[in-house]
Amino acid sequence: MGNTLKARDKQHIWHPYTQMKENPEAIGIVRGSGVWLFDEEGNRYLDSISSWWVNLHGHAHPYIAEKIAEQARELEHCIFAGFTHEPAVRLAENLLKILPANIKKIFYSDNGSTAVEVALKMALQYWQNMQQPQKKRILALEHAYHGDTFAAMSVSARGLFNRAFNEYLFEVTFVPFPDKVSALASVTFLESELQKGDVAAFIFEPLVLGASGMLMYEASVLEKYIILCNKYKTIAIADEVFTGFGRTGKLFASDYIKHKPDIICLSKGITGGTMAMGVTACSEKVYETFLSTDPAHTFYHGHSFTANPLTCAAANASFDLLNQDSCLQSIERISKQQAEFCKRISTHVLVEDSRCCGTIAALTLKTTAGTSYTNELRTQLYQKFLSRAVLIRPLGNNIYAVPPYCISDEELAFLHQQFLEVLDELTYQIR
Ligand SMILES: *Cc1c(COP(=O)(O)O)cnc(C)c1O
Repeated sequence: MGNTLKARDKQHIWHPYTQMKENPEAIGIVRGSGVWLFDEEGNRYLDSISSWWVNLHGHAHPYIAEKIAEQARELEHCIFAGFTHEPAVRLAENLLKILPANIKKIFYSDNGSTAVEVALKMALQYWQNMQQPQKKRILALEHAYHGDTFAAMSVSARGLFNRAFNEYLFEVTFVPFPDKVSALASVTFLESELQKGDVAAFIFEPLVLGASGMLMYEASVLEKYIILCNKYKTIAIADEVFTGFGRTGKLFASDYIKHKPDIICLSKGITGGTMAMGVTACSEKVYETFLSTDPAHTFYHGHSFTANPLTCAAANASFDLLNQDSCLQSIERISKQQAEFCKRISTHVLVEDSRCCGTIAALTLKTTAGTSYTNELRTQLYQKFLSRAVLIRPLGNNIYAVPPYCISDEELAFLHQQFLEVLDELTYQIR
C-alpha cells in the first residue's frame, strides 16, 4: 500500500479545490485512452467532464502525441520576444481561419485565467491609448467565473471561492444574469450602466456560465449585449475559455450571433486538452491603438513560456482533428443525444431543471439545502458515479456531462443510463 500513487501523493501533494483535512484519497491514474481513465487498481472511469472541460478528442490521442514528439525533437522552446517559430505562426493562421472575421491578432499566454487577465489589460490600456482615461469601469455577469488569478477573480462572482481575497479585488459592476424571466431586465441594466460613459469593458461567458453550474442563456440576449457594447463604445470581451472549440455545438459560442465581440479568450480545449495554453484574440480596432512611437502604448505583458512550440504543436494537431468532418459530425451527434437525454430526464421527480447547449447537458437537482457549491449532495453524487465507473464533478446540486467528442454512441448511452439510475437510487433513498 505504501508505494501506491495514492499513498505517495498524500505525503507531499496539496490538491486544487480540495479540503485536505478531509483526508481525500486521490485516485492514481496510470493511463488514459479515448473517454476512459485507468487507475492503478485496475478500475476505469468514463471521463464525462473531459477532465475539467479540456479534453476534446480523447485521452492520449496518438496523432497529438506524435505531433508533440516530432516538435520536441525539432525545437522544444525559445523566447517569443523578438523570435518566432512555425508552430506559433501556423496556430495563429489556423485560429484566425475559424474565429469571427473581425478578429485579427493572436496573443499567447498560459491558461484560461491569464487569457482573461490579458483581455482585461488590453481593454483598459486600449482606453489609455485612446486618451480616454475616464473609461475605466469593468462590467461582468452575475454568477460569472473567469478564473482564479486576481483580475480573473475580480470579474467573477464574489463568494466562497474568493472570500479570503475580497478586499483586494477591484470593483466591478455585475449585470443581472439573463435567465428566461429576467433577460429584458439584464439588457436594460446593461444599457443604463453603459450610458454612464465610463465603462471600459464588459466581460461575459457567452451562452453558458460554466463553473456557476452550467447556467445557460439565449443567443438573442448575447447579441443584444454586443450591440449595446458597440453602441456605447465599450470593449466586449467574450470569455470562450470553456465554450470554444465546439462545446456549444458550433466552433465558438460567438458563431451563434451576427455581431462579434472585440476580444475573445480561449484556453481549455485549444490543445485538445493535452497541454496548458491561453489565447487572447483581438480585433484590428483594439490592436492598432497599441501601435505608437510612445513607449507607454506598448503592451507590457508576457510569460516565460509564451507560445511554447510543443504546446502550439499540440494545438495545431488538435485543430487538424477538430476540422475533420468526422469530428464535426460527432459534435452534432453528441449534441442531438444530449438534447434528447435532457428532455427525457426533465420529468424525473428529482430534477428541478434540465438544460442543454450543444455537447453540454446539465441538470439541477431538487434539494432542501439550497443550491450552493458545497451542497451535501455533491460528495454523495460524486461517489455514486465513481462506483459506476463514471467521473462527474457536481457543482453543488448541479450535475452535468461534457464528454470528449470521441465518445461513442454506446458510451454515451451508458453514461445517460448511469445518470438515470443514480437519480432513481437517490429518489429511493430520500423517500
Ligand atoms: C476554466 C475557466 C477559466 C480559467 O481557466 P484556467 O485555465 O483554469 O485558469 C476562465 N474562464 C472560463 C469561462 C472558464 O471556464
